[in-house]
Amino acid sequence: MSMTGFNIEKIRADFPVLAQKVHNKPLVYFDNGATTQKPLAVIDVVNRYHSELNSSIHRGVHFLSDQATNAYENARREVQHYINAKESHEIIFTSGTTGSINMLAFSFGERYIRPGDEIIITEMEHHANIVPWQMLCERKGSKLKVIPFNDLGILQIEKLSELITEKTKLISVTHISNTLGTINPIREIINIAHRHNVPVMIDAAQSIQHARIDVQELDVDFLVFSGHKVYGPTGIGVVYGKEKYLEELPPYQGGGDMVDEVTFEKTSYNVLPFKFEAGTTNYIGAIGLSAALQYIEDIGIAKIAAYETEVLNYGTQQMEELGYIRIYGRSPQKASILCFGIEGVHMADAGMIFDKLGVAVRIGSHCAQPVWQHFGMTGALRASIALYNTKEEIDYLCKAIRQVKTMLG
Ligand code: PLP
Repeated sequence: MSMTGFNIEKIRADFPVLAQKVHNKPLVYFDNGATTQKPLAVIDVVNRYHSELNSSIHRGVHFLSDQATNAYENARREVQHYINAKESHEIIFTSGTTGSINMLAFSFGERYIRPGDEIIITEMEHHANIVPWQMLCERKGSKLKVIPFNDLGILQIEKLSELITEKTKLISVTHISNTLGTINPIREIINIAHRHNVPVMIDAAQSIQHARIDVQELDVDFLVFSGHKVYGPTGIGVVYGKEKYLEELPPYQGGGDMVDEVTFEKTSYNVLPFKFEAGTTNYIGAIGLSAALQYIEDIGIAKIAAYETEVLNYGTQQMEELGYIRIYGRSPQKASILCFGIEGVHMADAGMIFDKLGVAVRIGSHCAQPVWQHFGMTGALRASIALYNTKEEIDYLCKAIRQVKTMLG
């Protein structure tokens, strides 16, 4: 049991992958920012649907198709409930955060962006929340503007009001940075944006698993996330959008299920949410995602956040005590991400030795090159914490760092 009363042994037993050895050492998995492991609750439901209930949704008139369709639409309602969306048709299933942002960049761009218009993002975005907007700007002759962060990794929110002009059409911001761990003040950003009648998209890829999100309370216009980062399957993601926008946006992809009537002269489109779900969707992925969200709800997101903060703070303190670690991202509002460098040691060499010791961390830019351009470097090591990580694993990581430093530093 931890200080926050979290039954960690029981939780770890839910994740079979954690029990294995890597290079003959117990696996210490600290690459959760990239993807999280799956609990049995998710593995079992995905297996069951593949082995007993697999059938294409929305199309069949037979038993299996009916069962799969019901489960898929229940999964949509689970997501609706999880983020407290007003309507279930405000939930669109996609392939992941990247798929979600590309969909919005296309559809929002087609509907609202004209030459000279401006879109605001931040300096700490993942490439998925930079490149689709850049591509849109190239297509439309519009402009990307950037809210900078300071050397502690805190967003310079005071600059936002200066950046907004009459040409600003959208602000798209990450809730939690995947490199700096900074929890951005999204409520404040949304309030400022709305005072200028500018809608906001929140990238919740790194927050959906760590923080309570209530889209109605936030009054956010769009929110996106991936299933695989929240203990669900890969290849499934979500766009939440306010009905008033989704109704106005044109479809992103054409094909089956997104249509009402098709002739060679003209096609009319299906109602929400199907207008945005062309083709055979990843329905088993959606059902698995729903099981993952239920798993989190059973434990309680507040408990999870408190426990992860305890482990993060412990990790920060232990690394600082080593005396030769630089941690990137020192915002007091921080979650679950520890990006760091070891003085005198190249990250790639450290990562290789960590691997031999059974420790999975990530090295590189973490798909956020502008963050490292800010610090004049190419990247860092990253240990990212999930609900099943322990302080003992932090101790083991620090032991591995000491070994690396002795060998290479
Ligand atoms: N946004 C953030 C903040 C992320 O951390 C990531 C993945 O690391 C993404 C977007 C892209 O997510 P995906 O690869 O699941 O589409």
